[in-house]
Amino acid sequence: MSQNPLQNASQVRDHLTEVQHRVKKTLLEGQRGPGEATILSVSKQQPITAVEELFRAGQVNFGENFVQEATKKITKLEHLNIDWHFIGHIQSNKTQDIAKQFQWVHTVDRMKVATRLNNQRPHHFAPLNVCIQVNQATEPQKGGVDPTGVEALARGIMELPYLQLRGLMTIPPTTKNPADSAQFFAELRKLKEQLAIKGIPMDTLSMGMSSDLEIAIREGSTIVRIGTAIFGPRTLKIKNPNK
Ligand SMILES: *Cc1c(COP(=O)(O)O)cnc(C)c1O
Repeated sequence: MSQNPLQNASQVRDHLTEVQHRVKKTLLEGQRGPGEATILSVSKQQPITAVEELFRAGQVNFGENFVQEATKKITKLEHLNIDWHFIGHIQSNKTQDIAKQFQWVHTVDRMKVATRLNNQRPHHFAPLNVCIQVNQATEPQKGGVDPTGVEALARGIMELPYLQLRGLMTIPPTTKNPADSAQFFAELRKLKEQLAIKGIPMDTLSMGMSSDLEIAIREGSTIVRIGTAIFGPRTLKIKNPNK
């Protein structure tokens, strides 16, 4: 049964308000300032109308995983001042579309991709904001650089003039208990602190999703990536999921 679109619109706004409340409450409990964690609303496989509705409600940052799907949305919503974040697996033949259309990329995990993004970033644009995705449990099916490879990759990215190294990103191993993610979030924060000591400053920890945003914020997250808690279940079918 198709839903009344107006009812649907007010639902996503209500969900956004709930998530904003969860973020604010957790920051306060951790004695962090109210703006210290940003909500990235993950709009992959969600309709454009919902993105527009959330933008009107004040949401600025949107995350997409699939280049083809994202291109359609970004083109249609060009008139809105949205900050688009790429958070999917990066195929090297898609770097040009990413470099031209996004403000952030959270999933850089190898120098080849970083170099291509740098070369393809239009030089009159602001540098592309980059996070390094870390594969903390060395899961073969997941993207991300091994923790031991982060420093070299970070130093390489710092050399590239059209990229701005902002931070680290993780998707911890899936577990039944979201609390199990705490150790991975804490490790990512420690890694960021160790790199700062070695002369690699970063201001971003992209960690936490719908089910574990409180845990991530307690461990220092500065960007939580929230899909289903805002939009509800993902509904659009995608061709060629390149996950
Ligand atoms: C889909 C996705 C999310 C959002 O997940 P939810 O559980 O729906 O909040 C966050 N991060 C990445 C990398 C994703 O692919």
